[in-house]
Amino acid sequence: MKARWDLILVGGGLANGLIAWRLRQLRPEIDLLLIEAGAQAGGNHTWSFHQDDLTAEQQWIAPLVAHRWPGYEVRFPR
Ligand SMILES: Cc1cc2nc3c(=O)[nH]c(=O)nc-3n(C[C@H](O)[C@H](O)[C@H](O)COP(=O)(O)OP(=O)(O)OC[C@H]3O[C@@H](n4cnc5c(N)ncnc54)[C@H](O)[C@@H]3O)c2cc1C
Repeated sequence: MKARWDLILVGGGLANGLIAWRLRQLRPEIDLLLIEAGAQAGGNHTWSFHQDDLTAEQQWIAPLVAHRWPGYEVRFPR
């Protein structure tokens, strides 16, 4: 393993995963190490969000979206 890195991100969850993903796109020259304590980066998570949560400039996340739904409703018993 290398002895020096430009950036070390500890924890391969949502925040650092997005940082690493975006830096790969914008600053591929940065030597980046992502350290995850678990068996795999991202764990066994499914994250969801609403379309309006993201601005037009944040649509770079689109390739990470696995499913889309046109809407939803919440139902309570009775
Ligand atoms: C049940 C549940 C459902 C959720 N659903 C949603 C949702 O649908 N949409 C949404 O936006 N948010 C959701 N959240 C919130 C969302 O999961 C968190 O806000 C988000 O994961 C936080 O990102 P994070 O990168 O800070 O932490 P995490 O994603 O938890 O990542 C932290 C990572 O660091 C690793 N780690 C910890 N300590 C070390 C160490 N010492 N060395 C190396 N690695 C380490 C962990 O293993 C983990 O992989 C949900 C949360 C929960 C509990």
